[in-house]
Amino acid sequence: MHVWKFGGTSVGKPERMHSIRTLITSDDTRKIVVLSALSGTTNALLAIGESLKANNDADAHAKIDTLKAHYDAFLSELYKTAGGKAAGQKIVDSEFSFIRSLTGIKPFTLKQEKELVAEGELLSTQIFQAYLVEEGVPSTLLPALEFMRIDADNEPEIQYTEAKLAELLPAHDDKQIIVTQGFICRNPRGEVDNLKRGGSDYTASLIGGAIRAEEIQIWTDIDGMHNNDPRIVKNTFPVRELTFDEAAELAYFGAKILHPSTITPARMFGVPVRLKNTMDPAAPGTLIADRPEASAASREVFKAIAAKDGITALYIHSTRMLNAYGFLRRIFEIFEKYKTPVDMITTSEVSVSVTIDNTERIQEITDELNTFCTLEEPDYDQTIICVVGNFSADNEGVAVRVFNAMKNIPIRMVSYGGTESNLSLLVHGRYKSDALNALNDGLFSV
Ligand code: ADP
Ligand code: ASP
Ligand code: MG
Repeated sequence: MHVWKFGGTSVGKPERMHSIRTLITSDDTRKIVVLSALSGTTNALLAIGESLKANNDADAHAKIDTLKAHYDAFLSELYKTAGGKAAGQKIVDSEFSFIRSLTGIKPFTLKQEKELVAEGELLSTQIFQAYLVEEGVPSTLLPALEFMRIDADNEPEIQYTEAKLAELLPAHDDKQIIVTQGFICRNPRGEVDNLKRGGSDYTASLIGGAIRAEEIQIWTDIDGMHNNDPRIVKNTFPVRELTFDEAAELAYFGAKILHPSTITPARMFGVPVRLKNTMDPAAPGTLIADRPEASAASREVFKAIAAKDGITALYIHSTRMLNAYGFLRRIFEIFEKYKTPVDMITTSEVSVSVTIDNTERIQEITDELNTFCTLEEPDYDQTIICVVGNFSADNEGVAVRVFNAMKNIPIRMVSYGGTESNLSLLVHGRYKSDALNALNDGLFSV
């Protein structure tokens, strides 16, 4: 079985849904089809939530009306028959009446916000499934809320998904296509929750891992993972093959084409991930897998570059109250206690610099660090630039090419040697675009 995920732009227009139907039925492979919300919907729902939080109900209602009009128009182009249109209209009317009911709940809390934002995927999947019914495709809609769950630390429970899917799927053995929602899940309280922005990719990988799929395909609006951020750098090109480690680093360090955690479940179960372009299905895209023959054959030293914004750097100095070996443990126990991942680390004899992207608990973290360290003022608005390539120790002259390319850009931190495939640099956010372009010129132009 395959798992195919289609992102917002891939389902954002009626004609795109028509193409997806053709794509998913063009061979005999059974598929779980994971859909995102129509492009723009998640943002629109969050904007409605903002109006409700601000107690601006009139504004919320106006935004709901605008969004509903968009769906009404979408239906009239999607379905061909009166029966199809009526089925679609029933779905849209019912979901929007739920959305309107949320406006009456005071105060509007995070729980309601999560129910509201889930409506994007609930709408897209039901509308698409009704279209498959109209087209006579043997298919069913399996609600993600029945098998996707996160734990108290917001981590997906893949064993739960595995057990639930093993229980639920056999009832649909006669179906070629099983449609489900990306992004949404339940939390330990049984409430509707989600896997954070862009989370539909993660859903696809979690399902793919849980059912040991033959392949996971992520269909989006670009021909695979490019060697650099195409929104910032001109002349980027698709990378045809990446290992799981390389892809995981690029996703984690900001390549927007994949949710940061997407690769983890696929890598855990060795399920290849293929990135494909809905607008150009014949294009080869990117294959993410561990194929020794591919790595041996791949001669490129540099594979790709990504950037992660909104980073905070903390500079921690020992007051020498502790032994050098106890110092690091004490520091990292504090980050663990406040569940704050550290992205980059550099150390010297008496100092440690770390970067974090989640600053929710920064006050508690710095208060505790201050009991046995001295801290410099943190640097906010930093960007991690992650260069992925072959940085093995016997590959001479590779790091120097990176630094040469960066010669006019101030570098705050460097992390090298954590893996053989990554060199990360910390720069102020204002240099992000310059750094990405300079590295592109220095590492990829011939
Ligand atoms: P979807 O809605 O299908 O999930 P996204 O907008 O989340 O699509 O991701 C696709 C977009 O990611 C592309 O249109 C592109 O602008 C952006 N992107 C950023 N970095 C990269 C990269 N290295 N390779 C390809 N696309 C990238
Ligand atoms: N619809 C969600 C979002 O916009 C999830 C996704 O598209 O992957 O973030
Ligand atoms: Mg996305």
